[in-house]
Amino acid sequence: MIALDWTALSDGWTEAPKAAVLPGSSWNEKLRFHAVAFLLVHPAAGPVLIDTGYSARFFAETRFFPGSLYSAITPVTLTDPEGIAGQIRRLGMSPGDVRHLVITHFHADHIGGLRDFPNARVYCSQRAWQSVRKLRGFAAVGHAFLPGLLPSDLEGRLHFVEEGSDLFDDGAIHVMDLPGHATGQIGIRFADTTGRSILLAADACWTSDAFRENRMPHPVTRLLNEWKPYQTTLRRLHRLHREDPDLLILPTHCPETAHYLG
Ligand SMILES: [Zn+2]
Repeated sequence: MIALDWTALSDGWTEAPKAAVLPGSSWNEKLRFHAVAFLLVHPAAGPVLIDTGYSARFFAETRFFPGSLYSAITPVTLTDPEGIAGQIRRLGMSPGDVRHLVITHFHADHIGGLRDFPNARVYCSQRAWQSVRKLRGFAAVGHAFLPGLLPSDLEGRLHFVEEGSDLFDDGAIHVMDLPGHATGQIGIRFADTTGRSILLAADACWTSDAFRENRMPHPVTRLLNEWKPYQTTLRRLHRLHREDPDLLILPTHCPETAHYLG
């Protein structure tokens, strides 16, 4: 097993009522959702970035209608104007050195920094890409997708992966299908240098309590999610957790995941 060093990074957050993600809790209590990206370091392939945060471009893309609807519904606080790219620079690497980048799904808080990594091959599921590639204007915003965040040469750099794909054919990084929150959403499995197995679960659920207790979000979020696949994916995570409590499952936006931010 190849063990990888990893770091959690974030350049911003939004908030949502706790009751929306964990029914039965308070509508007044807010949960803070950081847009977390993960930097894995593979011994041969170098830095492998999983998602890219908001970046300052999110604000340019949401200044005018209909993009402004996005930031009206989920107001974003940018905590680092230099974005994930700036944080990678501060770790002593250049964003140009990132040759491998995974997009778990095409929501704006995961693709915001995509244009900062011009040399990366971009891994995603074909289904995820097909579901957004033609979306523009109002339809795009309805899918939390802002096409202006995509680099113009993206299509030529895409590399499609799916359940079981082994990114470097060496067992280090595997793909898991996690549909529901978004069409074709994927997660990433790897082991870190302490020997711990980790599943980066994207937005398969918003909190760790959800997969621990197999707790669906409030039906008000039905519009944002494909309900049936969401249920199936959540049950699968719940089972994985029951079978192997040592597996560290990290939903992107869970406040517990934010504890790993440097
Ligand atoms: Zn999402």
